Amino acid sequence: MLAVGVDVGGTKIAAGLVDERGSVLGCVRVSTPDSPAATVDAIAAAVRELGAGEVPVGVGVAGFVATDRSTVALAPNLGWRGEPFGERLAGGLGTRVWVENDANAAAWAETRFGAAAGRDAVVCVTVGTGVGGGIVMDRQVWRGAFGMAGEIGHLQVVEAGRECRCGQRGCLEQYASGSALVAAAREMIAAGGPDSAGLRTACGDRAEALTGPVVTQLAASGDPAAVRLIGEVGRWLGVGLAGLAAVLDPECFVIGGGVLDAGELLLGPARSSFAARLPAGDHRPHAPVLAAVLGNEAGLVGAADLARLALLGESG
Ligand SMILES: [Zn+2]
Repeated sequence: MLAVGVDVGGTKIAAGLVDERGSVLGCVRVSTPDSPAATVDAIAAAVRELGAGEVPVGVGVAGFVATDRSTVALAPNLGWRGEPFGERLAGGLGTRVWVENDANAAAWAETRFGAAAGRDAVVCVTVGTGVGGGIVMDRQVWRGAFGMAGEIGHLQVVEAGRECRCGQRGCLEQYASGSALVAAAREMIAAGGPDSAGLRTACGDRAEALTGPVVTQLAASGDPAAVRLIGEVGRWLGVGLAGLAAVLDPECFVIGGGVLDAGELLLGPARSSFAARLPAGDHRPHAPVLAAVLGNEAGLVGAADLARLALLGESG
């Protein structure tokens, strides 16, 4: 049976009709409105436009989702707190709705249909503006007792380190994300060394105009400073992966998100630092660190599949 998957981002909403093999049959994209109520209306309109009828709807949201799979406890980028989001959307649409953390949904999609297809124990890390994560154990999304597991971006890697939006300090997201990459590039420009010439040219001497994709493209073209900056993000990512392997011992890691456009410039240093940091690393298999393959669609494909399996009682 078909299902609808929705990915609610800070600026855009994507809704897609997805079949049981994870193929997207049609997609509608709209801007994300300011308020949760308007967002519910925008999603309902997008789902109707897909013309899917009364099929299950899965929604991936960047935030902490409560165990009822409806309430968004906190979505900092959207400004939502304690929103009974799924219930409202179900009321508006007259169909059943499953709300999932967006990184959990992406992890599920990569495990069912993507880079980790056929594997049972998978940890996915999304390295974008922030760092998201999803854990699949025994072919189930591991959500934790309170629904909020897998917040890999908030793994503390530096005691009393950089401040994080979650209220803590030293979280992985502050070192291994697109935002951290841009901050480090701006620091390099401010320091004014000769190695920052490529970065300065790329942003027209306006450090504030620098973005993650600009640094990534510069690295891909071989600029040594940009390569070093991406490598540093990769190195921190490897530190996080080693900690995760110590606790979860997954079969593989899947790395996705915008910074993955840097490819091996990110993954190479991540693998080296993972190998160097892995506890008892000389005496155990090393889980491969793989590139995600589903790209931007992973979130909506995973949300649709989870909704179909959970709400129709089909097995994965
Ligand atoms: Zn944090």
